[in-house]
Amino acid sequence: MEAALILLVATVAALVAGWSRERVLRKSGEERNRRDLEEQRARRDAELREQAQRTSALFDRMVEGLIVVDGGGRIRLANRAAKTLFGFDGPGGGKTILEATRNHEVAAVVARLDRELEVLGHELRIDSMDSPRFLQVNALALRDAAGANDGAIVVFHDLTRLRQLEGVRQEFVANVSHELRTPLSLIKSAAETLIDGAKDDPAALARFLTIIDKHANRLALLIDDLLLLSTLDSGGLRLDRQALPIRSTVQDAMDDLQQRAQARDVKLENAVPASLLMVADNDRIRQVVSNLIDNAIKYGRAGGKTVVGGCVLADGRIEVTVTDDGPGIASDAQARIFERFYRVDKARSREQGGTGLGLAIVKHVVQAHGGEVRIESEPGSGSKFILNFPGLPAPR
Ligand code: ADP
Repeated sequence: MEAALILLVATVAALVAGWSRERVLRKSGEERNRRDLEEQRARRDAELREQAQRTSALFDRMVEGLIVVDGGGRIRLANRAAKTLFGFDGPGGGKTILEATRNHEVAAVVARLDRELEVLGHELRIDSMDSPRFLQVNALALRDAAGANDGAIVVFHDLTRLRQLEGVRQEFVANVSHELRTPLSLIKSAAETLIDGAKDDPAALARFLTIIDKHANRLALLIDDLLLLSTLDSGGLRLDRQALPIRSTVQDAMDDLQQRAQARDVKLENAVPASLLMVADNDRIRQVVSNLIDNAIKYGRAGGKTVVGGCVLADGRIEVTVTDDGPGIASDAQARIFERFYRVDKARSREQGGTGLGLAIVKHVVQAHGGEVRIESEPGSGSKFILNFPGLPAPR
């Protein structure tokens, strides 16, 4: 009897021990599973965060502005370019596109997506910044798997630079046409006067032929300058670079212009040291120096002096200067003087046979040599054009 009792207790004890071990094992298994799940979730969250950061960094690097809205028209994502274009800070999340961009046209484009699914090439002008900006807007409706409205993607291409270039081109064409028409109409009216009878008067004949010759020369000069600028613009100018004794290049330019200088009683002085060398295209540098000396003669003081100097600067670069003692150039005009067809005094320039392209050519040719040009001038006390070129390469 006692033995049977002992056996029963032992069996119950064994069963209880077995159950509790099983419970302990089950509990620790659940704990492990929970920990595994939490680790997996944390890993997934970190991956998703990293992916979101990568995506947002990628979007922020886009030149185009990008806004993604949800089905309720509220902003889900806006990249840096979009925020800059519309001047809003922060993620923009939660705001409607109208609240974030403060632009009714953009909101209207997004609203059109209810009917059209995509809007392509909508052009938009925004005036909220310092200067107007021109944008092209492309928008695409998003649909979920069931085809329900899931928001939209709106992309903004900035066309401002393109529009500015178009404006420059149109202005240039208008200027060229005007510049060509002026001498052409003078040639035509002189020819008509001759045909109408002036040819029978020897004095009138000589006078009108001189007019025709003068304006035909002006047309030829203008066309030469335009062709050169077009070659410079297309990067097609081939420079024949060689070691150049600058003094002799300057002297050649001065010799060519001596007669014109004498006609205005302008003294030309070549103060470039004979030892000064640079690596450059002789013909092009001569043209640059010629344009500057020619201007100094044309716009400087009659009876004045023009000096061309040169030196090696402390940083090894080479400086060439053309200085006159004329009326100088006002500071607002100095900022524009290298623009094509810009003239301080239009009538004076035309009367002197100027094309309005001389300084634009100077700037381009100097830049093609890796140099820069600037002007120092005080109205009333002359002008100094300063050319700065790369120095000679170090001997090997
Ligand atoms: P242009 O054919 O009219 O001479 P440029 O491009 O050479 O054209 O010069 C542009 C304008 O800059 C000139 O029309 C003139 O008004 C002004 N300019 C150029 N050089 C001088 C100078 N040395 N002194 C005063 N004005 C100058």
